[in-house]
Amino acid sequence: MDDVYAVFLSNNNISVNDIMRALHKDVREYIFEKIYLGMKSDKKKMHRIIRIYQQNRDNCDAVRKIISIFFKNYEMSQEDITWIDGCLRAALRKKETRKSISKEIRTGIWNKQNKRCALCGKPLNLSNAQLDHIIPWDFVGDELNDNYQILCARCNKQKNNRIATNIKQIISRMINEY
Ligand SMILES: [Zn+2]
Repeated sequence: MDDVYAVFLSNNNISVNDIMRALHKDVREYIFEKIYLGMKSDKKKMHRIIRIYQQNRDNCDAVRKIISIFFKNYEMSQEDITWIDGCLRAALRKKETRKSISKEIRTGIWNKQNKRCALCGKPLNLSNAQLDHIIPWDFVGDELNDNYQILCARCNKQKNNRIATNIKQIISRMINEY
């Protein structure tokens, strides 16, 4: 590895694995975003995608065809295809209104995160813990299981409705409190 990268990683206690994991998530979220925005802004594409799903018994075959509308020669693992399939079908059946998430579910997620913000690791009280959709609500609504996390107010504000922010999150852990 180039020295400048190695020094940056070791000085800041970031492993190559952290970077690769975040990069991988960002890439597949970016691919989903491209497809999502493409079908949202073009009714013909939307109908084409629905038709592809209807004509293919295997959802993964359908997703491969859908990806090929937007990208050329793009290879993805079965796991990534399955992930994109889950997000795409969630986007297609998304409702216009938000589901209310019970206090029990919120408390469960907060406990699972050791009562800390999922992004910066700051300790949180349940009263200032904000429930966030990992893949933003605008994209997938409340249709995905396990798509919730608890954030502090600052991280939630910074995250906004963005997708593919995993690399940024690595840096956001180094930001000073203010
Ligand atoms: Zn935070």
